Amino acid sequence: MATIAFIGLGNMGSGMARNLLKAGHQVNAFDLNAQAVAALEVDGVVAAESAAHAVKGADAVVTMLPAGQHVKTVYLEPDGVLAHCRPEAILMDCSTIDVDSAREVIAAAAQKNILMVDAPVSGGVAAAAAGSLTFMVGGTAEAFDAARPYLDVMGTNIIHAGDAGAGQAAKICNNMMLAIQMISVAEGFVLAEKLGLDAQKLFDISSKASGQCWSLTSYCPVPGPVPTSPANNDYKPGFAAAMMLKDLRLSQSAAKNSGAQTPLGALAEQLYSQYTEAENANTDFSGIINMLRKG
Ligand code: NAD
Repeated sequence: MATIAFIGLGNMGSGMARNLLKAGHQVNAFDLNAQAVAALEVDGVVAAESAAHAVKGADAVVTMLPAGQHVKTVYLEPDGVLAHCRPEAILMDCSTIDVDSAREVIAAAAQKNILMVDAPVSGGVAAAAAGSLTFMVGGTAEAFDAARPYLDVMGTNIIHAGDAGAGQAAKICNNMMLAIQMISVAEGFVLAEKLGLDAQKLFDISSKASGQCWSLTSYCPVPGPVPTSPANNDYKPGFAAAMMLKDLRLSQSAAKNSGAQTPLGALAEQLYSQYTEAENANTDFSGIINMLRKG
């Protein structure tokens, strides 16, 4: 069994680290928030006093941090991962961050001949706890092969998306499509209400017709048609609107830097920004239908 350094034991990281422990690995854990580590000590993690301490002697390093600046700090600073890990270790950053930061950190690892992948996830806290995440992985084939046994413990779908940064690219493209589709489905239901068309009837028809998509059939933004969707639970997340806004901002910054035209992505960012500013940041992203309904 391997020794794994796990840095960032928040909502997602804590469940992922528990699954590595359950698989029999030793997990050395570090988080700036000591309570986050203490909560996992009962499960068997070994608390480390710093990132450098956690990675010393580890076969693998997993990070699950909020944003690009945290990932750069943890990997690149003199007391960070790259300065202290074994050259044979495989490094996996599972945070959702901007493509440029992901590429920068992986290039710095490559300079030291250390294998690293960006491996952001799809699936929320429940999937992290259940070990059923989807990983979108960027990096060389060699790095992907080295990361795979660890990612297999934490997820059910592990997909090699391409070179460094490709995992982050896949994540933000997917979530931009999701945001646009959720708004489109919500607008369909709002218009149906104004036209006196029953929501269940619209669902029955569109789920068999060309309006069909995941936002409609698996995550319907009105209560009723899909009993498991957050609409039936007062729009409790699920996938919080603030998280969707973060991913949309990453997509729009990447679109700007790469010269891609994403007008609907830009509009989705505006609408989710408006939605979260109205104190809905911690509601599910499908709750945007309530803002659209008010006009
Ligand atoms: P979180 O805020 O709950 O956890 C992040 C943890 O990182 C915190 O415990 C924080 O103390 C720690 N941290 C920050 N800077 C640090 C540093 N320099 N050194 C050590 N620890 C540090 O966030 P989360 O919900 O677990 O999300 C983590 C990542 O996963 C984010 O990039 C998010 O976008 C992505 N993600 C989240 C979800 C979700 O549903 N929560 C779903 C998919 C992807």
